[in-house]
Amino acid sequence: MTTPISPRRTTIFDRLTRVPRAHNGNNGSNGDAQHPTLPTSAYFGVNTFGARQMRDKLPKDVYDRLAAAIRLGRKLDVDVAPAVAQVIKEWAISRGVTHFTHWFQPQTGLTAEKHDAFLTFDDNRQPVESFTAAQLIQSEPDASSFPSGGLRATWEARGYTAWNPASPVFIVESDETRTLCIPSVFIGYNGEALDEMTPLLRSSDVLSERAIALLELLGDKGVQRVYTTMGAEQEYFLIDRAHFALRPDLVMAGRSLVGAPPPRGQQLEDHYFGGIPERIQACISEVEHELYKLGVPIVTRHNEVAPSQFEMAPMFEETDIAVDHNQLVMATLRKVALRHGLQAVLHEKPFAGINGSGKHCNWSLSIAADNPELDGTNLLKPGKTPHQNLRFLVFLAAILKAVHRHAGLLRAGIASSGNEHRLGANEAPPAIISVFMGSMLTQVIEAIAAGKGPANATQAMMKLGVARLPEIQKDPTDRNRTSPFAFTGNKFEFRAVGSSASIAFPIVLLNAAVAESLGEITEQIRGSLKKGKPVEDVVLAVVREVFKETAPIRFEGNNYSEEWVHEAEKRGLPNLRRSPEALEQLNTKQSRALLTKLGIFTKEELESRYHVRLERYVKDMLIEMHTLKEMVDTLVLPASYAYSGTLAAAAAQAMQAGIKVVPQVEAANEIGRMIETLSDNQRELQAVLDKAEGMHDDLPKQAKLLTGKGADAMAAVRSCCDALELKVADELWPLPKYREMLFPV
Ligand code: ADP
Ligand code: MG
Repeated sequence: MTTPISPRRTTIFDRLTRVPRAHNGNNGSNGDAQHPTLPTSAYFGVNTFGARQMRDKLPKDVYDRLAAAIRLGRKLDVDVAPAVAQVIKEWAISRGVTHFTHWFQPQTGLTAEKHDAFLTFDDNRQPVESFTAAQLIQSEPDASSFPSGGLRATWEARGYTAWNPASPVFIVESDETRTLCIPSVFIGYNGEALDEMTPLLRSSDVLSERAIALLELLGDKGVQRVYTTMGAEQEYFLIDRAHFALRPDLVMAGRSLVGAPPPRGQQLEDHYFGGIPERIQACISEVEHELYKLGVPIVTRHNEVAPSQFEMAPMFEETDIAVDHNQLVMATLRKVALRHGLQAVLHEKPFAGINGSGKHCNWSLSIAADNPELDGTNLLKPGKTPHQNLRFLVFLAAILKAVHRHAGLLRAGIASSGNEHRLGANEAPPAIISVFMGSMLTQVIEAIAAGKGPANATQAMMKLGVARLPEIQKDPTDRNRTSPFAFTGNKFEFRAVGSSASIAFPIVLLNAAVAESLGEITEQIRGSLKKGKPVEDVVLAVVREVFKETAPIRFEGNNYSEEWVHEAEKRGLPNLRRSPEALEQLNTKQSRALLTKLGIFTKEELESRYHVRLERYVKDMLIEMHTLKEMVDTLVLPASYAYSGTLAAAAAQAMQAGIKVVPQVEAANEIGRMIETLSDNQRELQAVLDKAEGMHDDLPKQAKLLTGKGADAMAAVRSCCDALELKVADELWPLPKYREMLFPV
């Protein structure tokens, strides 16, 4: 007797795999300039309109004012806006664009847009295309449906978006439709930040101000701006769309809530940097092609450690642009994968027991100055002269001080239901934030910290070998991949950020912490200078103190080890394993003082961040629990009952035939016991769910219940399901298995 393979599974699979592969999204209507066989440089950025393109089109004085606004991170003068709007409109229309939208980043982790047509009617009621300066600069979407974390009560749902001229406008192509996207901030009517970008811009401004003040003390004059740079390495999975569609958990929650580990996971370590399968390669190339048109400089692609996991990385850019670009990377991956019958899975931990995905945020500080000797200087790159190296060390000191003091807050910045499964799962940094400096710099730092202070700083630096620090070699063997925050030669790599998260919030918190410590260091130096000592000596003395006091945050060992957990505790470093406790860090006096004093958040805005993030956590958990419960009731239990029925029928048949050895009876009993345990655990899951839903007026309490009993109940249900998956006949199992999803044949 053969039972047909789960009919549902067959039908969906057939339907999806029969969908013809769409064209490569390059339907020719844009002209040959975008043909993929052309060199990338021939079409890079054709769908963006930034400063470079505007220079050719705008009158010089208008362009100069626009460029100054962009370069100095300022708002655009209203009187130059009409000319800018005009050239943008002409460009967009020449590219077949019919609609425009302010494109912004509400606190959903995604982007939002509302399209308006260029179409309008002139005095003679004739149709014409129009795009005014006012439309470029500002729009007023209905803000009521975006998360505001309680701010809504005070600003009554009204909000507006405003163009961020530093980020180029771009065209999104979707089949035959072309839409002009205007990267914007999103604020409430009284100026409250409702989005991810506004606080980022505020944090960049204070950081710049503080850094300039310090540089001036050091004697580096004429600096216009200090900006942060960002290169975000994006990890993701690509799996067959048909498999994805058959998994309610992946569809609803972005991660699998059941699924037995396959005998071969990643232990052979044969996927990392292996050859990219052809079907995947076709998809990735098309993603890159789309991104190149949008001016996103993707330069690296490779297989990641886990099967079916990949990574793409851009060339670094100024952080606010990198934030926009990373959103485009995630959106393009999701969109283009569908054309290839694939699904991009960006969740931090889609498959238990298999490495999850992160977003390594490479971050540094650079100078914008008229002085060509300073312009473009990376402040985290050791230099050629004692002065440059002292500058390098003082910025390093500021960062160590910032991370040491605000380790808990930085942990809050990366807290989400998804990242919780990844941090500390022996594949990603633990929830303990520490800094890795590498052996060479550690020696330097420790020598300075221990130094007794020769009379003169230059001599001291000569003696310590600091005066001529060699540029640190990028040696991959010297990397500590277990560190959440690692120095990698000329930048820090914040590795603990989740793969699906917006980069903005974690970087806001980092910028803020660094701005504060730069300010304090500047004050200390200024104080000592009054006593008439030479600046170099004063700076070195301050750096020495900071290196001493921040020693506990530096850790060169294995962050995955159990010993580190104990060691970190001894050092007094916070270990905030679960999201709700991590998010509490947004409420501490210290965090509030930091963020409100620097003007990055008002007290209300900060409270709203806590609220939005905690609420999101609770929603994620509730969605997962409901999904799991339904999967158990409608998929796992029916399959298990069917199998038990098959065994019972086989046993009855055997007995009827007079067969003496009937192991089917014990097999059916075993399945029966497993089903009973599953049902017990399912009842417990239901009980926690009922309790949590009854507490909806107390978010922190609800979150606490869900992160504790809720997560435990889900784990218990899951382990029963996974045990059944390994027993029930394969032909009856309705869900694609890890083996099938991760090892496509
Ligand atoms: P590594 O080998 O240490 O990973 P790469 O040079 O390959 O370093 O860079 C990894 C990522 O870091 C890339 O996205 C790159 O653009 C980015 N990056 C390099 N320099 C900087 C910098 N100064 N600021 C920010 N990101 C940077
Ligand atoms: Mg990586």
